[in-house]
Amino acid sequence: MSRQFDLASDLEQLSRDHAIEAARAGAKRETPAPTGTCPWCEEAAPVGATFCTAECAGDWQEHHARVGRAARISGAK
Ligand SMILES: [Zn+2]
Repeated sequence: MSRQFDLASDLEQLSRDHAIEAARAGAKRETPAPTGTCPWCEEAAPVGATFCTAECAGDWQEHHARVGRAARISGAK
């Protein structure tokens, strides 16, 4: 249980860092804002966290990285 809390707060920090980084870089990559619901599995997410677990964040990022690569390969922008 405490392990889950550790993961959640790490994830919260990571997504915050990522959001700041993305904003600074002017990146178009869109990480959903925390809504209380995980955008990947639609389970409840911890307050202030976008995803319910680091695993979901990883899956989501992997999925979007793949979509981004596919778009670049096909020449879409
Ligand atoms: Zn999830």
